[in-house]
Amino acid sequence: MSHLFYQGRQRKPMLAQARGVYMWDEGGKRYLDGSSGAMVCNIGHSNENVLEAMRRQMEKATFGYRLHFETEASERLAAKTVEKMPEGLNKVFFVSGGSEAVESAMKLARQHAVATGQGSRWKVISRRPSYHGCTLGALAVTGYAALSEPFAPMMREMPKIPAPRAYLDGRDPDDPATGAHYADMLEDCIAQEGADSVLAFLMEPVGGASTGALVPPTGYMERVAEICDRHGVLLIMDEVMTGAGRTGAFLGGDHWDMTPDIVVLSKGFAAGYAPLGGIVARDDLVAPVLDAGGFAHGFTYAGNPLACAAGHAVLEELDRQDLINNAAEKGAKLKSRLNALMQRHEIIGDVRGNGLLLAFEFMSDRATKAPLPKDWNAHLRFVEIAYENGLIVYSRRTRDGVEGDHILVCPPLTVTDTHLDEIIEMLDLSLRQYTA
Ligand code: PMP
Repeated sequence: MSHLFYQGRQRKPMLAQARGVYMWDEGGKRYLDGSSGAMVCNIGHSNENVLEAMRRQMEKATFGYRLHFETEASERLAAKTVEKMPEGLNKVFFVSGGSEAVESAMKLARQHAVATGQGSRWKVISRRPSYHGCTLGALAVTGYAALSEPFAPMMREMPKIPAPRAYLDGRDPDDPATGAHYADMLEDCIAQEGADSVLAFLMEPVGGASTGALVPPTGYMERVAEICDRHGVLLIMDEVMTGAGRTGAFLGGDHWDMTPDIVVLSKGFAAGYAPLGGIVARDDLVAPVLDAGGFAHGFTYAGNPLACAAGHAVLEELDRQDLINNAAEKGAKLKSRLNALMQRHEIIGDVRGNGLLLAFEFMSDRATKAPLPKDWNAHLRFVEIAYENGLIVYSRRTRDGVEGDHILVCPPLTVTDTHLDEIIEMLDLSLRQYTA
């Protein structure tokens, strides 16, 4: 009997070992990790250089509380992170995960508003559907009703605008009018809420778990940035899933040359080697907060040296192995091969994403975009079949968490052409078995 409890009652095999893109259970069965954990293990499993850097740190000190000591590990990681950021984002605050990082970004924004005489600003507009974390603060900005509704009485609901889903609305994603159409929903929302009450707009550059690797339409990102700027609304980019090279650029927002006010990182930041997250903000956003008495926020494990040493070694590996370029190159190949699968399998209605943040969506009718019947639970059943075949993929409901099924295919950025062959072969087999 296990004393653990997680989401459901179904037990999984015991993990015995993980190396590179592969994982083995105790029975010796091998799995190709086609979801990098949950879009976490960007540099693959058990990288020797990261393990060695962690060993060195453990021998020095496994923990040093941030209010008692500075550590070389956190200083080095902060400096290396800033190197990878858009111009001007140069202040880093570390945490231990994505939800903590989202909370930290919102609280920094709020403390900046208070410190600069803008205390009326508190609303953080986000999008529906979206996923930004499971703590009550992060849940308040998560547009995924099934997750947040039970807790509604315990949270202050924040305004949401629709995430751009051009393919469902019959709009051309390459037409700048489409980008403007969705971005103007932010303009309207700010007007409706009252600009002087709006603190920030929070978004993922490419929708991750919620919309399934959905890339924004042409013009959307630039217009969102312009609207935020004009209204003095801070732009917070949730790069928890898209960051650390996943989309073929260090940040997902780099594809549009975005310079948000705060960038939120986790997942690939320490790539599964340690619990790590962080926010990166502009100096002039942080300075008034420090002048007013400091950032009144922080977690015990924030900036712990072991996690920071792991994060630093992970970023070095990204550079050393040129993994971000590999993500772009292998991602383009994998996407075209997913498109080829779509030609053979009627059930795939859409293939999307960039870099190695890729997904396909099941549909019962490509022309009308009708989803599969909800009670088929296609996303769960398909994942089980793939798992049986030795391929781990990640799935969610596509449409507001209610219906529709997408499968994220997001292997580590270390994948080779041979791994891509294996992934496609196992997907093809799993699709044939699912539709048989
Ligand atoms: N933001 C995004 C975009 C995410 O994908 C996630 C996790 N899936 C989170 C925040 C929350 O991260 P964590 O689970 O580490 O708290």
